[in-house]
Amino acid sequence: MDKRGKLLIISGFSGVGKGTVVKGLLDMYKNYAISVSATTRKPREGEIDGKSYFFKTVDEFKTMIDKNEFLEYAQYVNNYYGTPKAYVEQQLSKGNNVILEIEVVGACNVKKIYSDAVMIFIVPPNAKELCDRLTFRGTEATDVIRERLTRAVDEADDVEKYDYVVVNDTIENCVDTINDIANDNSAVMERCKISANLPFIKVIKNDLKNILKGE
Ligand code: 5GP
Repeated sequence: MDKRGKLLIISGFSGVGKGTVVKGLLDMYKNYAISVSATTRKPREGEIDGKSYFFKTVDEFKTMIDKNEFLEYAQYVNNYYGTPKAYVEQQLSKGNNVILEIEVVGACNVKKIYSDAVMIFIVPPNAKELCDRLTFRGTEATDVIRERLTRAVDEADDVEKYDYVVVNDTIENCVDTINDIANDNSAVMERCKISANLPFIKVIKNDLKNILKGE
């Protein structure tokens, strides 16, 4: 029987470039599959239903919950997001590594079900870069940017629940590092393991707080 794939949970502060990193993994390496989530958030410009997300009304989303169609779901800044179950199982049994790009609550819920899932948190090289990226992305209003930065400060406390921290300095480096972790490269795993990176997370958290205070 073919080897089962790995479940890779990829999280990170809003604006850190998770989407681009995930796309890079899919483009550069063969044996990855991305789980497309359902959400009640409105589509951003350029997002395609069924590809970026399955865009749902709140009622449709609640029906999916009732039918037990989600592996996990969570609320994030006033919208629901959830991972449809069937596709994940199908891809894992085909031997593909399945990427879940989800936030921390969902990530921890998935880990309870799949204890061997690998939890990776992507961080920016520094706090200012995150702030600049959210601002220049131009997809969110100023108050939403503040909400997302505030949420990032809270999320910094949850990073310790993850297995690895990967810095998104360049997309190529970040993609290769994640692929190395997925392939059990012990030197990379050692460098990225959570305990080695908590002091850095603390610095980012403090800097984000100062940015929000306008300092
Ligand atoms: P965005 O609105 O920027 O696309 O996503 C907001 C947050 O929701 C991100 O942190 C993203 O990783 C997370 N997210 C996307 N899909 C899911 C999902 O299926 N489940 C959970 N728990 N979080 C998700």
